[in-house]
Amino acid sequence: MDYLIVGAGLFGAVFAHSVRERGKFCLVIDKRPHIAGNVYTQTIDGVNTHKYGAHIFHTGDKAVWDYVNRFAEFNNFVNSPLAIYRGELFNLPFNMNTFNRLWGVKTPAEAKAIIEKQRVDTPEPPRNLEEQALALVGSDIYEKLIKGYTEKQWGKPCAELPAFIIKRLPLRWTFDNNYFNDPYQGIPIGGYTPLVERMLDGCEVRLNVDYFDFIKKNKKIADRIVFSGAIDEFFGYEFGELEYRSLRFETETLDIDNYQGVAVVNYTDKETPWTRVIEHKRFEFGEQASTVITREYPAEWRRGLEPYYPVNDERNNVLYQKYKALADERDDVVFGGRLGRYAYHDMDKIIASALKAAAEEEL
Ligand code: UDP
Repeated sequence: MDYLIVGAGLFGAVFAHSVRERGKFCLVIDKRPHIAGNVYTQTIDGVNTHKYGAHIFHTGDKAVWDYVNRFAEFNNFVNSPLAIYRGELFNLPFNMNTFNRLWGVKTPAEAKAIIEKQRVDTPEPPRNLEEQALALVGSDIYEKLIKGYTEKQWGKPCAELPAFIIKRLPLRWTFDNNYFNDPYQGIPIGGYTPLVERMLDGCEVRLNVDYFDFIKKNKKIADRIVFSGAIDEFFGYEFGELEYRSLRFETETLDIDNYQGVAVVNYTDKETPWTRVIEHKRFEFGEQASTVITREYPAEWRRGLEPYYPVNDERNNVLYQKYKALADERDDVVFGGRLGRYAYHDMDKIIASALKAAAEEEL
């Protein structure tokens, strides 16, 4: 083999496809019983179910959009999630519909006046997420739509979280419920699993294979390794553990055709134990008689659980740099993906970085 690719998620699959196109042979292994990593979709009662949480593809990068469209046809789904706070319902992202529901205002000027009054002056740059939120959106939005959700999701007070996490939640002065600002958005028709399967065409794929066991017995299997698992685990936690956030999903089929009328509802109060409820059929405008829903619960990460989110605060970023220095010394291994690079990247960023990493290979 030219490459041993560890992890059949988006990073691994895009990298594999890219070097395969240039005539290289890849063995792709994954410890899970399926391909596609966290974008895996499984058909349950006729509904393509996002098994590891909602994955809505969006990008501003035309090259990435053209690239993914080679592997699947994308529909015209637009993410317009709702937020429920103690029984009150709001549109996201924060836009004129949200402001109208919060304060009864009807014009951008009225909304701006209220937010201006509620905005809090904080040091520049803000030292944490709470300061960032209060400076950007003021107290009402912070209390009802950010604080509870964020503290549940990350398991820490907002005052201890890095500000960058909410940079992508800007205020919008129009009646526009499209969550993303990107020009390209959609869901691959038929789900993500067939898309990844097409990327892996021509590669050997072995599932239920743990890299650390496998490599002990197959030291010379490939010239190069592409590793998309956790970088601290790769190096045997030599400098200690990086921190991650995990998730727990509860999925059920309901014998009704319409549960919540929208794909994603965020529960932004602190009392509701889950952060979101996904109604999967809405991603593909399904007309099935029943519906599949998933409640997403944030969870403490410990070894053995899936690490979904890196916690990119200062302590962890410093620790990551130590692992990265070790990684840089390994010219036989390419590290990639959310876990290999310890970065809170969306799907399009992962694809762009995999294409870049593959392009840098001297073939
Ligand atoms: N967020 C929030 N309220 C919401 C949705 C998001 O405060 O209703 C904040 C929260 O801090 C969260 C961040 O925005 O961690 C990113 O949210 P998003 O849903 O985009 O993250 P995902 O988990 O989908 O990557």
